[in-house]
Amino acid sequence: MQVASAERQPYTGKGSRYRLRYRLVYRLFCGYSRGNRLPAPFAMFQTSLLRSDTVLNQHSYYEASVQRAPPRPPLAEPVQADVVVVGAGFAGLNAAIELADRGLSVVLLDAERVGFGASGRNGGQAIVGFASGQEPFEQQLGRADARRVWDMSLEAIAIIRERIARFGIACDWVPGYLYVADSARKARQLLDDLDVQARDYGLSCDVATGADVSRLIASERYHAAAYENTSGHLHPLKYALGLAQAAESLGVRLFEGSPALSMATTASGLTVQTPHGQVQARFAVLAGNCMLSAISPQLARPLHSRIMPVGTYIIGTAAIDPAHCQRLIPSNAAVCDNNFVLDYFRFSADHRLLFGGRVSYTTMTPPRLQAVMRERMVRIFPALKDVPVDYVWGGFVDISMNRAPDFGRLSSKVYYLQGFSGHGVAATGLAGRLVAEAIAGQASRFDLFARIRHTPFPGGAMLRTPALALGMLWYRFKDALG
Ligand SMILES: Cc1cc2nc3c(=O)[nH]c(=O)nc-3n(C[C@H](O)[C@H](O)[C@H](O)COP(=O)(O)OP(=O)(O)OC[C@H]3O[C@@H](n4cnc5c(N)ncnc54)[C@H](O)[C@@H]3O)c2cc1C
Repeated sequence: MQVASAERQPYTGKGSRYRLRYRLVYRLFCGYSRGNRLPAPFAMFQTSLLRSDTVLNQHSYYEASVQRAPPRPPLAEPVQADVVVVGAGFAGLNAAIELADRGLSVVLLDAERVGFGASGRNGGQAIVGFASGQEPFEQQLGRADARRVWDMSLEAIAIIRERIARFGIACDWVPGYLYVADSARKARQLLDDLDVQARDYGLSCDVATGADVSRLIASERYHAAAYENTSGHLHPLKYALGLAQAAESLGVRLFEGSPALSMATTASGLTVQTPHGQVQARFAVLAGNCMLSAISPQLARPLHSRIMPVGTYIIGTAAIDPAHCQRLIPSNAAVCDNNFVLDYFRFSADHRLLFGGRVSYTTMTPPRLQAVMRERMVRIFPALKDVPVDYVWGGFVDISMNRAPDFGRLSSKVYYLQGFSGHGVAATGLAGRLVAEAIAGQASRFDLFARIRHTPFPGGAMLRTPALALGMLWYRFKDALG
């Protein structure tokens, strides 16, 4: 591999052009500086996903800022339900609530705890639309159905607000979202995209360019910024814990520490096996995200090749003077740029900057993570250079090839929800509603999504991770060029 051999060569006797090229290639591929040893070429692709995922949640601001109740006991007997839902992240929790609302009995299983996965760790940015943009829907479904899909993304935000109001979930919801672009080229791209969005889908923004950007964000880095207040942000773990309480108030039986290990079809439906119990149900919903394949390969086998786990990371600073926060982002909106490897950030309710970014296409956590993230933050807000970083954490997003969500059926009894592609805070609520509609007999909205074609990542079990990492080189290169 080109990168590995470059790393083995010391920086001697080569011209500056070589060094520049080397650094660029190395940074693009590995995403971190040359002071760190490159691991043996294939070891980096073999680090256990589960182990990385567990370690990445150990210094999370979110875990530190909630008081979890004692764990719910694991399933320890045979039980029956209309529907067994696997995974108590946003997708599974929302599915459980929507199913219970329709009068169905539900057992919800999580291998760990509620919100232990991406749902309890994310940037908290609830954004209209989907990670793929509208293209796959327009191309594969036609304009009218693409418009229905867009409207459902607005419904996804409305679902969050409904849940907060109906169940009294205190999760620090703040409306407001700021799109930013950090080069002239990306500013043109942002403005073009926003024009299309306003023309075709009616979402208009307050747009600022050049010196006017400072009205929306106090950073000299950005060439354009655009504000809308349909999207917003929240404390995701508080929201997940609130959804779990809401589900239980509707009669959902929720078991933590209960991995679904296998599933078998029976004459009356299906049986899901956990280490100490069993659920007999008429239907199953698989909402295990990237960890489904790591925890229960048998359940994930038909789905696994259609998503890839991509690591993404967040740092949380110490609390900042509220007046300073207000000067930096006057609207207190969540912010996200339009690079391929995004910077996304927002202030928490207690005035910390939660700054997300970086990616890893292997299961390995990038070295010097906190320092590198901090450098990126200070590039945007130099005034924060002396603010300490109190937390650093991360998790894995389930990207699909075309970045559109991947909802469907493995059989008439088994449904799955995956492929949120880093854009799942809002879309998971919609997914939960659609799968419940389908199980209750109204499948037309679910089937709009199920009609989207998803292809496996190329490379098979051994090579798909290196193939993805190499494929992403081009996009990282474009980011680096500005
Ligand atoms: C660091 C980070 C930042 C992000 N930022 C944003 C953002 O700002 N905005 C946005 O829209 N999206 C963001 N995302 C993505 C978003 O968090 C996810 O799309 C969303 O939370 C996915 O929810 P989920 O329910 O599908 O999966 P998860 O929340 O991962 O839940 C899956 C659950 O299933 C359980 N499970 C898996 N297998 C089994 C099994 N066999 N048996 C029992 N339980 C099982 C797991 O323990 C886990 O609790 C981010 C993700 C990360 C990691």
